[in-house]
Amino acid sequence: ENLVAEYRERTPTSETLHEETREHIPSGVASTSRQFDPYPFYIDHSDGVYLEDVDGNRYLDYDMNNGAGLCGHTHPKITAALHDQLDEGTLYTMPHGLLAEAATELKKRWSALEKVRFTNSGTEATMHAIRMARAYTGRDKLLKIEGTYHGVHDYVMVSGTPPKGKAGHPNRPMKVADGHGIPDKTVETVEIAPFNDLEATEDIMRDNINEIGAFIVEPVMLNKSVTPPQQDYLEGLKDLCDEYGIVLIFDEVKTGVKVAPGGAAEYYGVQPDMVTMAKSIGGETSVGAFGGSDAIMDQISNDYAWHYGTYNGNPFVLRALVTALRDVLTDDAYQHVNKLGEQMKSGYEDVIEDAGITGQVRNVNSQGMVQFTDANITNYREFMANINDDFHRLFWFGMVNQGIIPHPYGARQQWTISVQHTEEHVDETIEAFKNIAPTLAD
Ligand code: PLP
Repeated sequence: ENLVAEYRERTPTSETLHEETREHIPSGVASTSRQFDPYPFYIDHSDGVYLEDVDGNRYLDYDMNNGAGLCGHTHPKITAALHDQLDEGTLYTMPHGLLAEAATELKKRWSALEKVRFTNSGTEATMHAIRMARAYTGRDKLLKIEGTYHGVHDYVMVSGTPPKGKAGHPNRPMKVADGHGIPDKTVETVEIAPFNDLEATEDIMRDNINEIGAFIVEPVMLNKSVTPPQQDYLEGLKDLCDEYGIVLIFDEVKTGVKVAPGGAAEYYGVQPDMVTMAKSIGGETSVGAFGGSDAIMDQISNDYAWHYGTYNGNPFVLRALVTALRDVLTDDAYQHVNKLGEQMKSGYEDVIEDAGITGQVRNVNSQGMVQFTDANITNYREFMANINDDFHRLFWFGMVNQGIIPHPYGARQQWTISVQHTEEHVDETIEAFKNIAPTLAD
C-alpha cells in the first residue's frame, strides 16, 4: 500500500481528472481493461518509447497500447505518411490503390491468405472470420479455448474468464457467459476446449460431429500472460480440424507480425484455414483484417456471407499499415526486438535469482512476461491456480513509480518491446526491477 500511496502523490492531476471523467464515462475509461485501483494515470502525449502524463511524469512504455505498438509511438515514418494522407483525405467510399498494397503486405507474411478484408478492430475481424467459417461449413457451432479473449462480440464472450469452481471438469469445461447481456441461445452455440489438450479437443469434436463449423484459437495465449502451445499442439489442431471438417482460425491479433513477421503461423510452421489480425499491423491506427482461401473469402463476393462497414479499409489506416509493414517492420527490426527480448529475459531472470524471488520469464521471441511462480503454466486452469494478482500489482506499481510501465496493468498481459526501444532502455528497466526486488522478495 506504500507503493500505491506514492503513486497517488505523483499523480494528483490524474486523480482529479478521473473523478471528473467518471461522471460521464463508465469507470472513467474507454475500455474496461484500462480501469484499475485507485485510478489510471491520464496521458498528455506520447513520444517514441515514452508516455507523459498530465502531471508531467515521463514513463518508459512497454504497455504499447496493449500490444498494438510494435512500431512504438509517433514513429517518424508513420507520422510522415499519415500527415501526407491527411492532406489527401482520410475516408473515401470508392476503393483506392492502398487496398491491394495492404493486402499484398499481409499475404507476404501468411501463406494461408489468398484474400483478405479489412475491419476497424480485432473484434470485427474475429466476428467476420467466424461468420465466414460458419457459412462455408454450413454448421452453426463455434469451438473456442477456455480462458481466451477474442474481442467483445457475443460469440466469443463465452468462458473467457470463468470463475474458479464454476467452470466444470478441466477436460470438459462448462460454457460460462462473460457477463450479462449474452443470450443463453448464443452461449449454446459455443463449445469450450482446454488449451494444449488434443485428446479433450478431439472428444468434443466427436461429440459434436458435423455441428462445429469454426474453431478459433489464439496460437500463443497472450491474454494469459505468455502461455505457448506445446510441441505439436498446433499441428495436431490443424489435423483434427481437417479430419472433422472444421475451419481453423488462428486469432493473430496479438501474435501476428510480433512473434515472427508472419505471426505464430510462421513461428510454429502451421498455417491455419483463416487468420485474424489487428493491433500491431496498423502502426498505431485502428485497423483489423481477416482472410483465408479464395473459396472461403469469395463467399463475400458472391453475397453468400456478408461483410460491410463504413470505415473498412479507409486510406488513413491502410497508409499506416503499409508503411508499418513495408518500411518499419523490416527483417532488421525483428532482429533488433528479438535481441532486446533476450536481454530483457536474462535481465529479469538474473535479478529474480539474485534476490531469491520465486519467478520466471515466459517468452516467445520478443514477447515476454515475468511470472511470479515456478509452475509451468500450460492452460487457463493452471494460470488461475498459480498466478498471484496481488503480487503482480506490487511489481507493476513498483516499476511505474520509477517511471517504467513494464506491461499493461494486470498479470494477464505481457511486455511489448518496440522497434524504438534500445539496449539502454532495457538496462534501465532491469535497474528499476533491481531496486524493487528486495520488496518483492520479502
Ligand atoms: N483477439 C485477441 C487475441 C486480442 O488480444 C484482442 C484484443 O486484445 C482482440 C481479438 C480484440 O481486438 P480489438 O481490441 O481490436 O477489438
